[in-house]
Amino acid sequence: MDILPKIAQMLEGFLQLVFPPVCLVCRNIIQEINDIKIVCTPCLNKIQLVPPNFTREQILARLNPCYLDHLEAIFQFDDIVQTIIHQIKYQKADRLAGAFAAYARQAGNHSFFQQEGLVIPVPLFAAREKERGFNQSRFIADGFYRESKNRVYPRLLGRTRATLTQTELNREERKKNVAQAFTVNNGNSVSGKSIILVDDVVTTGVTLNECAQALKNAGALRVSGLTLATPTRPEYFTNQ
Ligand SMILES: [Zn+2]
Repeated sequence: MDILPKIAQMLEGFLQLVFPPVCLVCRNIIQEINDIKIVCTPCLNKIQLVPPNFTREQILARLNPCYLDHLEAIFQFDDIVQTIIHQIKYQKADRLAGAFAAYARQAGNHSFFQQEGLVIPVPLFAAREKERGFNQSRFIADGFYRESKNRVYPRLLGRTRATLTQTELNREERKKNVAQAFTVNNGNSVSGKSIILVDDVVTTGVTLNECAQALKNAGALRVSGLTLATPTRPEYFTNQ
């Protein structure tokens, strides 16, 4: 029997006793450890779901042409979601990405998750992924579809060039920034298929739409987008 995991477990228990975990949002001691670990349950319970027609009316309706057949964003982007996604990205927290996606799946629209399809995470440019060593969308996709027949295909879609981060750009700049940035690596495998594209956050939908266009050009039948969150309140929009 390997004794190391046992020692690690004991050490973790001991550390929790001496330094109890503190919620990264409210800074209170986490009384009962949940799957997310870094945020307490009362804070998690404050996260709101996106209203049912929001993505269709506020995002898809503004994409012209729109290549996405459906867009599912689970949580409203707020300080709590922002804290968790920041940890995922910058701490390369793959387990947290999976745990938060699994939590979102539980909280979200159950019927959406019954749809069958090839699950494709929005890719990073290969050089950037190598440098970062981490594509958060991949781990989010794994968490969403952990207990599902749908399989995750992280290499079917590629990014052909480096793009700027979209955060500081306005809508037109965002469009230009990602124009023709994606390529389907194996057209035969998406032809006639339903695709579920996964990303962490959707704002204008321009990036997902660009991926959807590449997939449709390669013969995909139907493309849906699925994200953890979307900003629904003006204070979280930058340069819309
Ligand atoms: Zn808290």
